[in-house]
Amino acid sequence: MNKDNITIVKTTNGKAKPSENALGFGKYFTDHMFVLDYDIDNGWHSPRVVPYEPITLDPAAMVFHYGQTVFEGLKAYYGTNGKTMLFRPEKNVERLNRSCNRLSIPEIDEELFLKGLKTLIAVEKEWIPKEDGTSLYIRPFILPTETNLRVAPANSYKFIIILSPVGAYYAEGIHPVAINVEKEYTRAVLGGTGTAKTAGNYCAGYKAQKKASEQGAAQVLWLDGVEKKYIEEVGSMNIFFKINGEVVTPELNGSILEGITRMSIIELLKKWGIPVTEKKISFEEFVQAYEDGIVEEVFGTGTAAVISPVGEFRFQDKIMIINNRETGELSKKLYDTITGIQTGKMEDELNWTIEV
Ligand SMILES: *Cc1c(COP(=O)(O)O)cnc(C)c1O
Repeated sequence: MNKDNITIVKTTNGKAKPSENALGFGKYFTDHMFVLDYDIDNGWHSPRVVPYEPITLDPAAMVFHYGQTVFEGLKAYYGTNGKTMLFRPEKNVERLNRSCNRLSIPEIDEELFLKGLKTLIAVEKEWIPKEDGTSLYIRPFILPTETNLRVAPANSYKFIIILSPVGAYYAEGIHPVAINVEKEYTRAVLGGTGTAKTAGNYCAGYKAQKKASEQGAAQVLWLDGVEKKYIEEVGSMNIFFKINGEVVTPELNGSILEGITRMSIIELLKKWGIPVTEKKISFEEFVQAYEDGIVEEVFGTGTAAVISPVGEFRFQDKIMIINNRETGELSKKLYDTITGIQTGKMEDELNWTIEV
């Protein structure tokens, strides 16, 4: 048998589907999952779609101890004429493998990943919600399964894809949020794991997020880990500024996560002929532009929200209000265009989507 043949075992016990207007994020999971195993002798092998179920591991399985994990996040959309659409999934595979490389996890064959994903989605087609703004969130991840407490890369892993129907991010329309500028905690530092989607990066941010929440802000603005001077990201999103008619975003510097939404926005802006620059942006420089009255829009970007406008920054006892706490024109246009392309409502001139 071909090593890449995907076997399918269907559940005999399908779950009831949740109501589409109360999905939230990451609360419900579909009936099946895709699984692939790795060991030293066989490499990645035994691709299969099986009923969604708990996994049993030894308490000494390495995943519980040293955090050698990676994950991805993308979505399948219910498109016009009932099509199932994916947005640039090959970029997620490439990034997963870059994350694997950083975490010393064996890389996955890109074709096999995409084939597994498409097979799983085809089996779960009925789970893709149809309401405006809803989607089927896709969470691929890898965990080390070897039973051993030595501090070194594991010799066995599981790659799993699970699916979760999720609600509209902006159930009540897009609204700009308040952001706390973080000067104490660090998300990532050059030479560390900031460019990888690996578990430890996210729990490392909880303390700062809690502080932000206590101060009434929705998210954290992360500055560089060395000088706490340059702007890096906002929460788990990349960040863009429109200043004096030009768009700027922090350049990829070895600690910023390379967002696929970020990449797509840069490509769209270039296509539209709007000046866009990737460069180092110091927080001081932003404050100066703010005081000069030339900051027009600020927004975060990521798969979950697509565009998340920033309404204000809070730094010490200073509050800086952006665009009257309203969603900017460019933010709105980018949101409408990207979501339009994702669902097939707008023409996909850049060839970003694929149909499953
Ligand atoms: C996933 C992620 C992003 C956004 O990436 P997308 O591919 O656009 O979803 C940005 N920053 C961090 C830290 C992330 O984990």
